[in-house]
Amino acid sequence: MNIIRAFITGFKTVECTVDNINDFNLIKFYFKNRDRYINIISRYSNNNIITLVLSEEIDIKYACTLFYDDHTFSDCDYFKLFASEEFNGRFFTLDELGLNYNETYSEFRVWSPVALSVNLLLYKNGNTADLTATPTKIQMSEINGLWSVRIDKNLNGKFYTYEVNVYGNINEATDPYAKAVGVNGQRGAIIDLLQTNPIGFENDSPITKENYTDAIIYELSVRDISTNPNSGIKNRGKFIGLTEKNTKTKNNKPTGLAYLKYLGITHVQIMPVFDFSYNSVDEKNPYKYNWGYDPQNYNVPEGSYSTNPYIPNKRILELKEMIFAFHKKGICVNMDVVYNHVFDAKHHCFELIFPGYYFRRNEDGSFSNGSNCGNDTASENLMMKRFIIDSMLYWAREYHLDGFRIDLMGIHDIDTINTLRDRLDRHIMLYGEGWNLGTALSSDKKAIITNSAKLPEIGFFNDITRDILEGSIFSKFDKGFISGKEGLESGIMTSIVGCTKYSDDTSGPFYSPIQSINYISCHDNSTLWDKLKSTCSDEPEEKLMARLKFALGILLTCQGIPLLSSGIEFGISKEGVENSYNSPDEINWVDWERRDKYIDLVTYVKSLIDLRKAHPAFRLSTLDDIKDNIKFLFVPSKNVVAFVIKSLDIIDSWQNIVVIYNANKYSVEIKLPPDTWNLVANKSVVSNKPISGHSGLFLAEGISVNVLYNNC
Ligand code: CA
Repeated sequence: MNIIRAFITGFKTVECTVDNINDFNLIKFYFKNRDRYINIISRYSNNNIITLVLSEEIDIKYACTLFYDDHTFSDCDYFKLFASEEFNGRFFTLDELGLNYNETYSEFRVWSPVALSVNLLLYKNGNTADLTATPTKIQMSEINGLWSVRIDKNLNGKFYTYEVNVYGNINEATDPYAKAVGVNGQRGAIIDLLQTNPIGFENDSPITKENYTDAIIYELSVRDISTNPNSGIKNRGKFIGLTEKNTKTKNNKPTGLAYLKYLGITHVQIMPVFDFSYNSVDEKNPYKYNWGYDPQNYNVPEGSYSTNPYIPNKRILELKEMIFAFHKKGICVNMDVVYNHVFDAKHHCFELIFPGYYFRRNEDGSFSNGSNCGNDTASENLMMKRFIIDSMLYWAREYHLDGFRIDLMGIHDIDTINTLRDRLDRHIMLYGEGWNLGTALSSDKKAIITNSAKLPEIGFFNDITRDILEGSIFSKFDKGFISGKEGLESGIMTSIVGCTKYSDDTSGPFYSPIQSINYISCHDNSTLWDKLKSTCSDEPEEKLMARLKFALGILLTCQGIPLLSSGIEFGISKEGVENSYNSPDEINWVDWERRDKYIDLVTYVKSLIDLRKAHPAFRLSTLDDIKDNIKFLFVPSKNVVAFVIKSLDIIDSWQNIVVIYNANKYSVEIKLPPDTWNLVANKSVVSNKPISGHSGLFLAEGISVNVLYNNC
């Protein structure tokens, strides 16, 4: 007979699971908390689950043990209490957290209702390798879980951690709210944030777009964009590499910031730039590569991207300089944020400061692992929710960000994401990965695509369009519409309308095109070029290039918000590596000479971007506009889809636009609607002036996107 596990479920209730209820006499349980026995006043069982009600409240600062008849016992786990409404209703603070620095005083606040004591440790050095440094220890005082201390000195230049006495352990932890850190992020840094603003940053104002659908997003990594020596960028792999002007390849073609301006995208989406774990990239010697989806200090930039990770101000200033440089070019900056998990929950400051609260648990007490990264955070717990919101508001305000891409958004709860939407300025984009993952949160609460009705102003990475276009990402050889798979016409029609609820026959999960982030490839999985090489392996290179143009031609003429991964427009390759998160620079970097080699592709894609930007008809912002203005044309040929966008309710310099996708290798004749039409895009060229006039039958070449317009 065994107690399998025991949980505290309320301030006066304990629950345990036993192996066989028939072996137990409920009267023989007894319970201990803080070296005292608490009477059990009622007991009941349901199969092998036993609930015990106590005569008085548990002191949550102390461990609890459940005994049975002197010979068996179990330590009790607290996480169910911490996740309860009862607990969240009682323990919560709206007080400012973290460090409030002034020249004359500094005030530190950290929240842990379960800590027995908390000390502030002040260091002279931010480097934990300096073992000679003994910290000054200052006791903090508590009011209802909020620990604080004020020191009336100028502490600028010092570093700090918290020493937390919790459940018999003395844990040294960084401040979850730290805004600056020493090298490798192991100590908070005390700085004056006002000293971290580039000159003129206060005059930097948001670049507002009328609608989220006006965005054309380009995903990039700070490291990959400039690491290759052929980038011509001096500060390779650094934030300020993207501030350098007029950088170019030896062929005199623009790279870095200058190239992005030339390409015409409206937003960059920057892969992790918050401080990620030193286990992934050692800031002292960052030769190892990692994408950085393993957060360490959520409110601090990554040190390996600064020119000096030992000087806390540098990484902050230099990231701001990068964002400012984009803004000066009219490009918005969206940040990829990863609040859903950390690299090592057990040793993360959240768990060291308040064990059992910030990470979601499975029924058996193990970490929930829907993220597949070992652990999931618990956004449904109020102080975790508050942390996510505080953190994103801080980034938006302090760094002037224009949007957030939420990694594995489906791990988070709907309320957290909608509260964020309400709290962030309207111009700030908010979108993420709404995958339904196996996390310990009920499906109706998850911020996932199937709950899009409850998240009306949130964008979702659209895997439907992705898979229809290029085939499943889970099979290297699975084809899609762009690579010759047949029978996908209705899927393509759904993609054209942004996978919105357009009609009974053509309907996706979305209620608005602002919910659809249309992409073919991103940092995950194969690059588009590698996927084409594996799915169309018998085809010569020029055929693959035609397919790539076809793919991006479709992507940029569908309703919704297009997202391009860096280098997709010149067929970037990772040599077949599908998950390159820790592959060497040579696999991940942007090869700018490849860009020079495939400049014809780049020109084509740039012209598509220009076309989309010039014509609001491709960027409709509501479902009603899509329903009213887009009509599909009857096409008898298979693997061909054609539609008309009529500018009825929208203002566009073109009255009617016909778009034809022909996925066949051969040409197909399409009957155009009445009147004459001007061709502006075909298989080879996208032009801002008519290429040729057409009426009656139009011959769409094999594997081509064609755009025609008239003003009749
Ligand atoms: Ca780091």
